[in-house]
Amino acid sequence: MTLEDSAAAARACTLCAAHLPLGPKPIFRVSRSARLLILSQAPGTRAHESGIPWEDASGDRLRDWMGLDKARFHDAARVAILPTGLCYPGRLPRGGDAPPRPECAPLWHPRLLAPMRSLRLTLLVGRHAIAGRLGARAAARLEDVVRDFASHLERGLFPLPHPSWRTKAWAARRPWFEAEVLPALRASVSAALADPPAG
Ligand code: SF4
Repeated sequence: MTLEDSAAAARACTLCAAHLPLGPKPIFRVSRSARLLILSQAPGTRAHESGIPWEDASGDRLRDWMGLDKARFHDAARVAILPTGLCYPGRLPRGGDAPPRPECAPLWHPRLLAPMRSLRLTLLVGRHAIAGRLGARAAARLEDVVRDFASHLERGLFPLPHPSWRTKAWAARRPWFEAEVLPALRASVSAALADPPAG
C-alpha cells in the first residue's frame, strides 16, 4: 500500500466514531520527502474546525522552541505532523482534553510511518507521544526524559513537553530547559531540514 493509499484510508476512518463528540476528522500531514516528524497527542477543537494543525498559541510556542517560522513549519514536503490520536477526542469530565483514542496509533502509525523513509528526526511532543515511543514509565518521568534528550537524540528522537500555556510556568522553574534543551532542539531541527551538501 502506498503512503497516499494509507493516508486516504486514514482520512476515511470511522473506527471509533462512537467515542468522538465532534465525529471523525483525522488531522495529520505526511509525505515521503519529510525529514522531520512532529509526533503529537491529538487535535484540539481549533484544528478540528480548520483542518490545520498547530495554528494556536501552543503552535506558536512550539515554532519558537524549534526556531521555525510558519512557512517552514507548514512545509508539507519537509515537515510531517502525526498525532497519537488523529481525531479530536473530546473533553474529560473534570476539564482538559481527553487522551488520544487508544485504537488509533496502533492502527494508523505503522502504515503511515513505514513509507516515510527520509525522516531524520522525530519530535515526541507531550506525554502521549513520549509514552507511545518510549513507554509509559518514561512519560511518567517527563522532566528526566526531557533533560536527558541527548541519549534519545542518538536514535533520532527528541522528547518535549506539550507546549501549552501551562508549560510556560513549568519551563520558568526549570531554567535548563531554555538554556540547554532549546538550543539543542533548534540545532537538531536545523540539521534535519538542511539540504545535504551538493556534489
Ligand atoms: S481517532 Fe483514529 S481510529 Fe478513531 S476515527 Fe479518528 S482516525 Fe479512526
